[in-house]
Amino acid sequence: MSQGILVSTVTLPNASTPDFWQSCIDQLAQELPEQQFQTWIKPLSAQVADDLSKVTLFVANRFKMDWIRAQYSARLSALMERLTGQPVAIELALATREPPPRNLSAARFQGFDANDTATLSMAAASAVEPFKNRLNTALTFDNLVEGSANRMARAAAMHVSGMPGHLYNPLFIYGGVGLGKTHLMHAVGNQLLADRPDAKVLYIHAEQFVTDVVKAYQRKTFDEFKQRYHSLDLLLIDDVQFFANKERTQEEFFNAFEALLARKSHIVMTSDTYPKGLAEISERLVSRFDSGLTVAIEPPELEMRVAILINKAHAEGALMPEEVAFFVAKNVRSNVRELEGALRKILAYSRFNQKDISIMLAREALRDLLSIQNRQISVENIQKTVADYYKIKVADMYSKKRPASIARPRQIAMYLAKELTQKSLPEIGELFGGRDHTTVLHAVRKIGAERQQMTELNQQLHVLEQTLKG
Ligand code: ADP
Ligand code: MG
Repeated sequence: MSQGILVSTVTLPNASTPDFWQSCIDQLAQELPEQQFQTWIKPLSAQVADDLSKVTLFVANRFKMDWIRAQYSARLSALMERLTGQPVAIELALATREPPPRNLSAARFQGFDANDTATLSMAAASAVEPFKNRLNTALTFDNLVEGSANRMARAAAMHVSGMPGHLYNPLFIYGGVGLGKTHLMHAVGNQLLADRPDAKVLYIHAEQFVTDVVKAYQRKTFDEFKQRYHSLDLLLIDDVQFFANKERTQEEFFNAFEALLARKSHIVMTSDTYPKGLAEISERLVSRFDSGLTVAIEPPELEMRVAILINKAHAEGALMPEEVAFFVAKNVRSNVRELEGALRKILAYSRFNQKDISIMLAREALRDLLSIQNRQISVENIQKTVADYYKIKVADMYSKKRPASIARPRQIAMYLAKELTQKSLPEIGELFGGRDHTTVLHAVRKIGAERQQMTELNQQLHVLEQTLKG
């Protein structure tokens, strides 16, 4: 049946029926909070019986149907009864998803028989969901601390956000958990939108992409799916290792990938490993992943961990002294997420006890975390900690160099080695590049005496001792 015939054969029902649902809508627009109205009521299409005894509402999916039944059906029937002066039966029906016969849209609210293809046009009205980019606006370049661990990934990501579709396409970022991969991706999306608000950006976790493929498959809505993905300017897809063993998804992703590259849209991906290390992902996809720029994010080095802690504390409106940041950064080494966890504990502890943040307080707050670590203090550990603290190379602990900027930290390390380990003077001398035991003894006495006089030195030793003891 052609659309023209359909429209012309429909006898228009009681003129008030199309207006009836519109009146309900108008009323609900006044009564409900804007967001609720937009999300739940506005997308509905209605089919109203001639005698106004029954209204069928078409809902996009089962989830919405259950929600509307639970949250709004009582309100809707009360409203309809009020408007008509009689009970109105409400029926909820799933809208089919075929595309609308275009010129039928005018008939949207008219009381067609349910068997009519006109139902399709109603269905279509609720099938189009607003586009969401799924970006977390809190994750930006501004609050992503730079360090040698992420410098290259960050620079590449910034480049992409400034000029998507040009160099480094796709950008493949890999690294362990909690190192800032997801943060970096959101930063790219947010930056692009800040420069070009009309850009079509989508952030999606690979698992969600898998779900989308399955849904499109079940509902036979691949066209919609393709339209959504293939029209993006920037696709940010997180943790692609989740595509392992999902063949259908890999195929769809491959298609999206090709379509996006063909129209010079940019693709940024992350993974817990480099492309060739990905298991159970098809060859052709892996080689595509590797065809742009592949960069790693490493675990942050000490200095970066200190900077991250100070920055994050600052963002929380708290003051974290550098020595406390050093203490925490030295003891929490694995990744940024853990650093954040440690910081949260310290902030909570400080607020709760109304005490300023100090090493003592941090140590208390992190007691559980620190106690599970192996607390054997080795000379090596001392050398490394002291070198980090005074920003010299560990190698200088064994070298023959004599400038004070190096010799002094070395003496401090010897002093701490004597104080904190069971090693003898000759053993310590040996571990400091084969020095004589008298050299070690001299250092131990000198630093020991000076710490009595010089508060600054004493304070530094205190920080080092606390850090080493954890
Ligand atoms: P991944 O995706 O690599 O597992 P995330 O991006 O989720 O890691 O990062 C974990 C947490 O650490 C997030 O809260 C993130 O904001 C933070 N983070 C990671 N790297 C940095 C950094 N360089 N500067 C500031 N915060 C960071
Ligand atoms: Mg992540």
